[in-house]
Amino acid sequence: MSEMLKISLPDGSVREMPHGSTPADVAAAIGPGLAKAALAARIDGELRDLNRPFEGDAKLALVTSRDEKDALELVRHDFAHILAEAVQNLFPGTQITFGPATDDGFYYDFAPAPGRGPFTDDDLPAIEEEMRRVIAADKPLVREVWDREQVRQFFLDHGENFKAEWVMELPKDEPITMYKTGHGEADWIDLCRGPHLASTGKLDPRAFKLTRVSGAYWRGDQNNPMLSRIYGTAWLNKKQLDEHLVRLEEAAKRDHRKIGQEMDLFHLQAEAHGSVFWHANGFILWRQLEAYMRRQLDAAGYKEVKTPQLMDARQWEKSGHWGKYRENMFVVPDEIPNVEDDAPVVSGNADMMALKPMNCPAHVLIFKQGITSYKELPIRMAEFGCCHRNEPHGALHGIMRVRQFTQDDAHIFVREDQLIEEVMAFCDLLDRIYKDLGFDNYAIKLALRPDKRFGSDEMWDWSEQSLRDAVAATGRNTEEFGWEELPGEGAFYAPKLEFHLTDAIGRTWQVGTIQTDTVLPERLDAYYIGEDGEKHRPVMLHRAILGTFERFIGILIEHHAGKFPLWLAPRQVVVATIVSDADNYARAVVAQLQAAGLRAEADLRNEKINYKVREHSLAKVPLLLVVGKREAEEGTVAVRRLGSDEHQKVMGLDEAIGLFSAEALPPDLR
Ligand SMILES: [Zn+2]
Ligand SMILES: [Zn+2]
Repeated sequence: MSEMLKISLPDGSVREMPHGSTPADVAAAIGPGLAKAALAARIDGELRDLNRPFEGDAKLALVTSRDEKDALELVRHDFAHILAEAVQNLFPGTQITFGPATDDGFYYDFAPAPGRGPFTDDDLPAIEEEMRRVIAADKPLVREVWDREQVRQFFLDHGENFKAEWVMELPKDEPITMYKTGHGEADWIDLCRGPHLASTGKLDPRAFKLTRVSGAYWRGDQNNPMLSRIYGTAWLNKKQLDEHLVRLEEAAKRDHRKIGQEMDLFHLQAEAHGSVFWHANGFILWRQLEAYMRRQLDAAGYKEVKTPQLMDARQWEKSGHWGKYRENMFVVPDEIPNVEDDAPVVSGNADMMALKPMNCPAHVLIFKQGITSYKELPIRMAEFGCCHRNEPHGALHGIMRVRQFTQDDAHIFVREDQLIEEVMAFCDLLDRIYKDLGFDNYAIKLALRPDKRFGSDEMWDWSEQSLRDAVAATGRNTEEFGWEELPGEGAFYAPKLEFHLTDAIGRTWQVGTIQTDTVLPERLDAYYIGEDGEKHRPVMLHRAILGTFERFIGILIEHHAGKFPLWLAPRQVVVATIVSDADNYARAVVAQLQAAGLRAEADLRNEKINYKVREHSLAKVPLLLVVGKREAEEGTVAVRRLGSDEHQKVMGLDEAIGLFSAEALPPDLR
């Protein structure tokens, strides 16, 4: 024990420290600035408390607010503890359960004291104030190791039945860590894996805000008691919090459900949970997008197919979906209806069918028709495939998360030697499409093998390396493209590339994906005849560019805030009259605009022009042509563009039509 510990630092230097010393001691030895800035430590890669002693020689990296991802996670977790302590200080008898960090903050689930109803938004200001008090008290967060029975007894003694139940499900022989906030007996304590900051005073008391309260079942099960979940958003400093609040406000303004209503695009109702009623305006948008995608696919050598909605359960068994995916599938009995009787009767021995949750197996069945030669590969099979997945009602969100959706799906069957080139071509295609659709920034990520997976290590090595090489060959494995590898995040049968769009207010959306699959061709016995005359397995690439039409249109709505480029706008031009004398002229203008291929309509109502202008700008019509007596006499139109502060511009009708029809061309046809 007399020997010193060797602690190596990221710059390559090694410090000798006595046994029992901590990362905080190393920080202090380096300098007071670092001692103050250090939030936590990475020890041999693992994030740990600053005051947890080294257990031996170690590689140490001190975490400061510059390591934003780690710092945010730590801070948010601390805030969750402080929220729970504050709630218990103010509302004795409240039981604590779980409180994790989230993408923008934290939440904590509480069981309110008996007789007290659920928490409400009205409770939040007082809780926030109590949290600030806990922060100001600068209490240390201290890690302790307990054994399971001790933890259980502690919680039972304190009336914490949920925690006492939970701790018994942790592995029996593993030490359990408890985090104390403060020192004395009266201080707050929670079962927690950690790590945490050294003390509550490390948090910026102006960098958080409690946002809302909702109900949540204990452990997510609706047979269990209902808890109150209090959400907060938390950041490293006030500036970050303010920026986030502005983003939230901006996001609320852009909410696709609100804009969908204002523009009369679609609606949802409980009679068809998670399936969208597309109105005429919304479906124009859909058709424009679909026609654009179809032109892209045709030009890129895809062949479009259409496959059945309902397939026999035996087929889903073969593809492996029946076993792994059944709970997400809508199952339908294959029964001849009993016409004698009103009620539908299922005899009990009817075969089962299921609505397809994905198109892949059906595409393999098409591939298997006839015999394929190596010369015919690659085969790029596309389908705007309508699928159903049984998502719980609570998980549904507008048109972003639905139960019936249409993927821009395709499967590419390739020989191994064609894989890299095909993935490169996909990356180029996708780059063009995203830019055409108004997204200049997107990130590419490679999701690597998960722990539980099918297939040999060789297969994984090869697939991962091929995807990596393909992206490198297109020159997009750079910081500009947010290139990153994500260990453990691949599908169970294959690694995948993910494409994440950045929208106008800086949010990211994963939409595109391409994954290599050797498992399904094997399961469904798909093969081609090679140059050697033998049977070979093709590699199957599952890929999508938009993901689903529903979600992508939702993203488009929020990205553009409903102010679509002219080619996508459902209603492109409204010709509005100032006086009824101009009615005939307005009708003639509309007819000419329509003849030029523009979606134009007249507003001849006997309303004030300012009223008409307001109404059409709320409905986000990009072009409003105002016509009165003078315009009718001179053959002109006064053009007002949506969102432009410029005064209206008077133009000759022919000139206006020429300009607008050029502008209304989809980007690929310009
Ligand atoms: Zn914790
Ligand atoms: Zn697929």
